[in-house]
Amino acid sequence: MKQRGHRSPAREKVQAADAFHASPDYLRTSQAAALSMRFVAGRFHRDIELGGINVLLNYQSGCHANCAYCGLARERPGAYEEKSFIRVDWPVIQTEQIIDRMDSYQHRMGRFCISQVVHRRTHEDTMEIIRQYRKRVTVPLSVLVAPPVLNRERIQEMKDAGVDMIGVGLDAVTEKVFDRRRGKGVQGGLVWRKYWEVIEMSREIFGPWKVNCHVLVGLGDSDRDILQFTVHVKSRQILAYLFHFYPEPDSRMARSRRPSLLRSRKIQLLKYLLETDKITLEQISFDKKGAVIEAVVKREIVDQAIDSGLPFMTNGCPDQASGMVSCTRPFGSYRPGEPFRDYPLLPTEEDRGQIRRQLRLSRWLDAYRGAGGSAPRKDDYGNS
Ligand code: SF4
Repeated sequence: MKQRGHRSPAREKVQAADAFHASPDYLRTSQAAALSMRFVAGRFHRDIELGGINVLLNYQSGCHANCAYCGLARERPGAYEEKSFIRVDWPVIQTEQIIDRMDSYQHRMGRFCISQVVHRRTHEDTMEIIRQYRKRVTVPLSVLVAPPVLNRERIQEMKDAGVDMIGVGLDAVTEKVFDRRRGKGVQGGLVWRKYWEVIEMSREIFGPWKVNCHVLVGLGDSDRDILQFTVHVKSRQILAYLFHFYPEPDSRMARSRRPSLLRSRKIQLLKYLLETDKITLEQISFDKKGAVIEAVVKREIVDQAIDSGLPFMTNGCPDQASGMVSCTRPFGSYRPGEPFRDYPLLPTEEDRGQIRRQLRLSRWLDAYRGAGGSAPRKDDYGNS
């Protein structure tokens, strides 16, 4: 019979490894966050000042999930500390130093977000970091949770400890694509039903507009799937935050194609119009594969939306004071030097001109058809 408290050599080895630069004493921060907290020198393109700070739990044994598109996936080659996440390095920094900087720069910070990974220590370490953070910093706190390690009691514990918003990295919006990219299809162990249990429990505990689901365009869900999902979660007062797939080297999806810029722009615009009740799903036509082929929308509604620039900004948790997006994740969905896929700042007039051209409105928006208009082309949709 197995004795309680017995520690196998393998388990001790894992624990010793985890003691090395592991959470809760250390965290990985995005390059952008390290820059904004002045851990590294440099400036962002257009002098973007980042008010949303993202940190990631750090364990030597890594994340135990195996998502096909993720740089931290269990089966992706390389030691965990050398793995990248969204194709950029995440420097490892002492938690205490990060909290010191957050304390010093509270006046210009809009949000702090702890990203969990699937690991047996995730919950207790997250709670420890939250407690340390809350003792000194009042900037609102989000947790991007790992549903496999959560239950109702743990979600309530986060709420009681002062977490403001919960994010769920659902990424795929249909069970089929979720299973293929994160579950059985990759022996990843993630279960669609469990993710929804956590979304619903979080919605109950945190209340309206305090829970968000991350959605990744380009994993295999159609335009219709994504837009229907947007409408569904809106009806539950849950937010949908768009991301756009970009292949991570050496991941299973390293050779998969990105969504075209036109596809991203269409989804951004239509999602915004649906979320702001300017249109309904019935005004959009889809082909057999679920790609948008036409939308019937008044021209002034489209013009207003484009002129506001808002549909094309990064989706993310807000800054408490301004209500504008704080978690802007520059280069989360594209590389430096490429056109912004989502804008970490309000698009300028020049940007909006480019966006308008990228949208090719006359191809698919009824009100813009006429001189110069043409039917949609197959390659506009061929890369989901
Ligand atoms: S949008 Fe940003 S701050 Fe909000 S949960 Fe997602 S990563 Fe965290």
